[in-house]
Amino acid sequence: MPPLVAGAAAGRHRRRAILGVVGLALMAAVATAPVAGAAPAPAPFPSPAAATSGTAPPQDWIALTFDDGPVPGTYAILDILDRYDAKATFFISAWRLPANAEIAREIIRRGHSLQTHGWLHRNWTGLSSGAVRRDIEKSIQLIYEATGYRPTCIRPPFGATSPRTTAIAESLGLEVVIWNANSADYAHQSSAALLRAAPTWQPGSVVLAHDTNHYIWTPVLGEIIEGLQARGLELVSMCGYQRTPRAPFIPL
Ligand SMILES: [Zn+2]
Repeated sequence: MPPLVAGAAAGRHRRRAILGVVGLALMAAVATAPVAGAAPAPAPFPSPAAATSGTAPPQDWIALTFDDGPVPGTYAILDILDRYDAKATFFISAWRLPANAEIAREIIRRGHSLQTHGWLHRNWTGLSSGAVRRDIEKSIQLIYEATGYRPTCIRPPFGATSPRTTAIAESLGLEVVIWNANSADYAHQSSAALLRAAPTWQPGSVVLAHDTNHYIWTPVLGEIIEGLQARGLELVSMCGYQRTPRAPFIPL
């Protein structure tokens, strides 16, 4: 079974995942929810990085994060999320732009958070610092050209990080966000396994998923969301675009 958090320094990664959500909390608190169906106004370029301290995340949220898209199958996931008024975060592989730029724009139009998963989906820990920087910068550029947004968070491909690569990402104004719950959709390729896993996700979980595996998600995503919402969990997006959870944020 793959580790819940990839990489050697699991504690550090977990902290980073949570810090990302703290950033979500703080920025969601000051963000204005977009009007449904309307394209949000582009952020100035560059935009500030997500704030990371000062508030605690609410207790009743869960963050689904979809990596590796956007792909045409992403639309079906968006439709299901809409049906349940659920929000998610999409860490996109920027090499899919500009071909799939319209899908990326639709993610934002529907009120979700669109962030970067890098350009070529390479393992940064095996690349030179210059190559890592170019990969990240290219992803930022492609996302900005496609959507008018500069991402504020990044999920390293494979969750593989080191202090060196994290420092590069942060120097470019990006918060590194890993995960603390893994759907393992890539491994089991099973809708039934997703249904079994979802009840184990705890409040405050950042769940790793992949919209490239849309074909196993779409048959059960509605049922999974119903189960999470029945537990009192609100599905929120990360990294400061929108979505104010029902419960107020309680300062530390
Ligand atoms: Zn990936």
